[in-house]
Amino acid sequence: MNSLVCLVASTLLAGSPGDPPKPIEIIREAITADAIRASIAELSSDEMGGRFFRSPFAEKAAKWIESRFDTIGLTHGATKETYRQPIDTNVESGPNLIATIAATGAESAAATGNGFIVVSAHYDHLRPKRTGDDRIHNGADDNASGVCGMLAVAQAMKALIAKGEGPSCTILFIAFNGEEAGLLGSRAFVKSPTVPLAQIRGVFNMDMISRGPPREIFIDGGEVGAPVVAALKAANESVGMKLRVDEHPDWLDRSDQGPFLAKKVPAVLFSVEDHADYHKVSDEVSKIDAALAAETAQLVALAAVNMSKGAFVARAEVVAPAKPAAP
Ligand SMILES: [Zn+2]
Repeated sequence: MNSLVCLVASTLLAGSPGDPPKPIEIIREAITADAIRASIAELSSDEMGGRFFRSPFAEKAAKWIESRFDTIGLTHGATKETYRQPIDTNVESGPNLIATIAATGAESAAATGNGFIVVSAHYDHLRPKRTGDDRIHNGADDNASGVCGMLAVAQAMKALIAKGEGPSCTILFIAFNGEEAGLLGSRAFVKSPTVPLAQIRGVFNMDMISRGPPREIFIDGGEVGAPVVAALKAANESVGMKLRVDEHPDWLDRSDQGPFLAKKVPAVLFSVEDHADYHKVSDEVSKIDAALAAETAQLVALAAVNMSKGAFVARAEVVAPAKPAAP
């Protein structure tokens, strides 16, 4: 290539110096592998004790997530006063944590009430092993990676807003509890949703996003998840990951997207294949691919902000068929 062609080509790729940055450029700057690795290291440290359901360690993790929500500048999403959504009446059960970012931008007036997008990940993991030198289930991949991915998406949304490229519908960030105990947090949410389920455009649920081949992620949503997959494929033209779509029909109810799919809410799971450290004490931060988690979060951020700007009509609520009136 001669130098003139080279100059033209590089100008086309980078945009002119005066151009405002594209959303993907803002997102790449906001979500870095180093920052994600540092977050995962904290959330999967031995001090977090495995974050197991109904334990002071899950509560410690909840406080850590709330402080991150505060630092990023998110809004309480369970009620006006709190991030905490109780998931049952057992006093030992910790809450789901729900934060929001409101719609912004020129379209926001028209978009008021125009749907919601959910970005989620479970924060609970497993109780310690009874024996052995290393007993703590750190759960770096499962699922500190997903929680830190979700927080990174929130950070990217704030960066987009600062550059006038924010989302045109409200985004919910949900850290689910009780996933390992049987999807308890996500089941509780769909039973008592904080926004109408029919108005949720899509759910991006991350559960284990930091192991396996570089730049490759599995996305499973089946027929109901198709609108989210379409948004992801379009966004991936700017991200360039290898997306492996709908290869695991058996994963559809394996994580917190399951209860949404059962209610016909378009939802997908981001995950990697089970690995040698899956549900082992060796699922530690030293083994993760932070770049894979960062790139997955970048993909989610871009797909979500693009999806927020598209037209949306609320679905009909899925309700039990009415009983015929008595004659
Ligand atoms: Zn998990």
